[in-house]
Amino acid sequence: MVVVTIEQRRKMAAIILGYEARRDASGRLAVYSLPAEDGGGTYEVAGINERYHPMEAQELADLIRSGRHQEAEDKAIAFIKTFTDSVVGWAETASVEFYLRDTAFNRGPRGAARILQRAVGVEDDGVVGKDTRAALRTAEREPSKLLRALREEREGYERNVVGRSETSVFWKGLVNRWNKALAAAETFLEPADAADHNEKASAGGHGLTEVARLAAVSATMPIPLDEAQVMLKLVQDYVPIGNHNRPGTKLTATSITIHNTDNTSKGANAAAHAKYMKGADAQKRQVSWHFTVDDEFVFQSLPTTEIGWHCGKDEGNHTSIGIEICMNSDLNADAAYDRAALLTAWLAYRLKIQVPVGVMQHRDWSGKDCPSVLRADNNKGWIKFIGQVTDFHSRLRPVESPDIDPPADDHHHSSA
Ligand SMILES: [Zn+2]
Repeated sequence: MVVVTIEQRRKMAAIILGYEARRDASGRLAVYSLPAEDGGGTYEVAGINERYHPMEAQELADLIRSGRHQEAEDKAIAFIKTFTDSVVGWAETASVEFYLRDTAFNRGPRGAARILQRAVGVEDDGVVGKDTRAALRTAEREPSKLLRALREEREGYERNVVGRSETSVFWKGLVNRWNKALAAAETFLEPADAADHNEKASAGGHGLTEVARLAAVSATMPIPLDEAQVMLKLVQDYVPIGNHNRPGTKLTATSITIHNTDNTSKGANAAAHAKYMKGADAQKRQVSWHFTVDDEFVFQSLPTTEIGWHCGKDEGNHTSIGIEICMNSDLNADAAYDRAALLTAWLAYRLKIQVPVGVMQHRDWSGKDCPSVLRADNNKGWIKFIGQVTDFHSRLRPVESPDIDPPADDHHHSSA
């Protein structure tokens, strides 16, 4: 049964427009001159180029030049929808249809058909017939798994059919596009469909967390530092300067120490621990640490350049950043450990702390049975956690940014 609505299809085209559009400083669609080697003619608007779509490109360029930007925007969405309607009738789920539309916009209907065929394991002749449809129906029973297969085959097609390699200047942009489209496709998943890659989240009625999604996609997918930070949902809620448990002693961290809160009360989440750390009891007991992680947020209570009191030993406190992972009874544990692993990897990457040797248990310093959850069952959880930290760490990348050349009369260097 086809359940994709017109409104969803318009939204899909609008998302693709978002990937393709070049915009002016006011965010309006712009006409973009193509370099000679592009092969798409002399100009394009939103990926719609003069050579292959002369009438449409002309119409959009005329609207933009006469200042009718909103009309151009609507037209561009309509064109993208029409160009990618060739995939209608292949998939029966919105998420898969979106991914195929995006693929078709980049690689044409035939390329999209071949990528689909490779993903569902039938001969890739570029013609979607009875066999392809039958295989697709079966694969669509697990749409999120199929989406990941399509993402992998998009890459495989580029390598093996188009003959493009990772050394190509376009490669990074392509990888980024495939991954962004995958994340967008997942937003079209029905809640029940999301179950096949995160049973717990679905059982609890929660949506998939972004970090879980990240863990689920290809192990080779790079993670830019800024995207990691957005996914962490880091809230800075520092212990006030002058409080007894924020001594302000300088820290140059060479390790990260992992703890479990040992507080299973309902609501004992990251925000609650951050609040606790600012109060009288934490000062009296002389405890403080840098980060508390739950299934939704990371709360930061101390700067990473100041020591905390979380190791039970001076040596640890003076060399290590402390991360507490929550254990409240209403916690989605998988989501919390995913987030804690990403936080650990992200800190290690930025502060040049070695992975995995620089990731410690509280027990390594003082002998206390902490992190108790990860240590249970002969360190069963710890082994998995360290694997995840190592995986995330290997995938982190610096933020993509151009080199700039500041003007000679540097107005940023005020003498005042
Ligand atoms: Zn501890």
